[in-house]
Amino acid sequence: MAVCTRFAPSPTGDLHLGGAWTALASWVWARREGGTHLLRVEDLDSPRVLRDAEERILEDLTWLGLDWDGPVVRQSERSEIYEAALGTLYRKGLIYPCDCSRAEIARVASAPHEGEELVYPGTCRERDRARGMRRTPALRVRMPDEVVGYGDIIQGHFEHDLARDVGDQVLRRGDGVFSYQLAVIIDDVASHVSVVVRGADLLASTPRQIWLARTLGAEPPRYAHVPLVVGPDGTRLEKRNRAPTVRALRKAGMSPERVVGELALGLGLAETNEPITPAALAKACAGRELPWRKEPWRIPLSLVAHS
Ligand code: GLU
Repeated sequence: MAVCTRFAPSPTGDLHLGGAWTALASWVWARREGGTHLLRVEDLDSPRVLRDAEERILEDLTWLGLDWDGPVVRQSERSEIYEAALGTLYRKGLIYPCDCSRAEIARVASAPHEGEELVYPGTCRERDRARGMRRTPALRVRMPDEVVGYGDIIQGHFEHDLARDVGDQVLRRGDGVFSYQLAVIIDDVASHVSVVVRGADLLASTPRQIWLARTLGAEPPRYAHVPLVVGPDGTRLEKRNRAPTVRALRKAGMSPERVVGELALGLGLAETNEPITPAALAKACAGRELPWRKEPWRIPLSLVAHS
């Protein structure tokens, strides 16, 4: 079966280098084998969505030399599909309403590991239905006491204990917004994505998505998590918007081939940072095993200085 990958930006700001890094990796993954590459705009979290951000991201991708097949998919236009999946899980007895506040959860939940979110302690799981709700409830899914193991093509094998590491996930927030976890796996399955190439910051989401796919009766895609992009000093880019944007590099007069050349070297797809187009890179990567980088990539000073 032909390979199909996707890039799934959230339109909450301009395309930063971390986004360009993932987009290029995902694009080359498919194009080097003549496969399909899709573009999906993850615009569900409307308070965070910026007007024009989608248009600007698409423009920056095109400037870099990246394209996509078929129309752009927007998650905000797919609520009925997410609602139907929620209905399927509800009929399986897996969905329950929860009106716990964050503070209440934090009081009961065990301390999260660094950078992880709280594991929901299950307070509303068996609660008395007659109690009434103090606010519009979120909808959670009962996660089983089960271990999900999966082999990431770049990062290796992982095992997650769903009850201990994940807990009952929210699939629809109290304000009606469907969760990223639900929407993303439904879309990946529906659009026949065969390999999800994305940033390693989403590794922890993978077992949730694999479990959701299987529980909904679908085969999950395979996963390839590219390493994180960090600042030149090796520290984590705190907020996404502090990373250099593609637009800033473009405004500073840098050519797209130079940006792609740096990213290609960083990803492990090229041996030098020679300027190159994505198309030439895909051709150079065709038909050979690629030494994908596993460790975080420090943005070279040549790129930061321009931003
Ligand atoms: N929309 C997510 C982001 O911008 C990416 C989701 C994914 O690739 O699964 O971080």
